[in-house]
Amino acid sequence: MYLPPHDPHVDDPMRFKPLFRVHLMERKSATVECMYGHKGPHNGHIQIVKKDEFSTKCNQTDHHRMSGGRQEEFRTWLREEWGRTLEDIFHEHMQELILMKFIYTSQYDNCLTYRRIYLPPSRPDDLIKPGLFKGTYGSHGLEIVMLSFHGRCARGTKITGDPNIPAGQQTVEIDLRHRIQLPDVENLRNFNELSRLVLEVREQVRQEQQQQQDGEGPAPPQGLLSARGPPGAPAEEGGDPRGGAAAAEQPAQSGQGQPFVLPVGVSSRNEDYPRTCRMCFYGTGLIAGHGFTSPERTPGVFVLFDEDRFGFVWLELKSFSLYSRVQATFRNADAPSPQAFEEMLKNIQSLTS
Ligand SMILES: [Zn+2]
Repeated sequence: MYLPPHDPHVDDPMRFKPLFRVHLMERKSATVECMYGHKGPHNGHIQIVKKDEFSTKCNQTDHHRMSGGRQEEFRTWLREEWGRTLEDIFHEHMQELILMKFIYTSQYDNCLTYRRIYLPPSRPDDLIKPGLFKGTYGSHGLEIVMLSFHGRCARGTKITGDPNIPAGQQTVEIDLRHRIQLPDVENLRNFNELSRLVLEVREQVRQEQQQQQDGEGPAPPQGLLSARGPPGAPAEEGGDPRGGAAAAEQPAQSGQGQPFVLPVGVSSRNEDYPRTCRMCFYGTGLIAGHGFTSPERTPGVFVLFDEDRFGFVWLELKSFSLYSRVQATFRNADAPSPQAFEEMLKNIQSLTS
């Protein structure tokens, strides 16, 4: 199991914790041990359900229990997972969210079903290399997001879930056709100024979608375009059918660094976010109530800092997420084709929709 570093240190490496081990004895014979809990390895079981799916089971879950009961188990989990004690966390709502996560994850006792996910395919003209990122999600702590490129848009798909938005959903969607030119630092401090800029772009996007619907029939859902192309064909990047005005909005190939600062009133878990950025784009972020109730895409700003870091300003939440690349390497994780990757994205999203 890969765990994100402790909140809010997004640049720290992922942590690694073995959950099972398999001893290969001789031909077609093996023993499985569960390594969950603090009493050492004990008897477990692994079953291959179907292609790209397997399940694990612990046969001695009493090995997961602690003498101090649930209370001790929770405190130990909190120390390991968050590097904190409950007393450290003053915020009552955050305590509730953390308790929810403990109850949710510990109820399975290492009996889990695993499904394969692929890393996103990359192309030379991508804004940055796609891949996995650790991101700050306010009281939810750090979460893992997969950044992938789909022609005119980029997507951040949640690989870990939380009580509001489950894994598989698109937490951020970036409109690569609509760059946002930030005002100079002094005016950037003014939240209303940034808000005005972003809502202007949102209105422009809405009008363009309307035109597309009126003139060319229903617009295809964003991002699905590249999945429909013939295998290996370059996606429609840059080939904007409307040309003209939109051509001026093409992402620049190289942006000079420009000063960046969060507007006053926008909260960030991490105060040491980068103070220069390469470029910004209009985007939307998914918010919902607990249990993924009334999900809604809300406007925001995608901020590209460098090859390994980006940020997202959630306008309605008045908060900022900072994302940093997962540097761990995973073997055999490439999708066999771009279509297989799109298919996987759809599947993980439908599991929780
Ligand atoms: Zn066990």
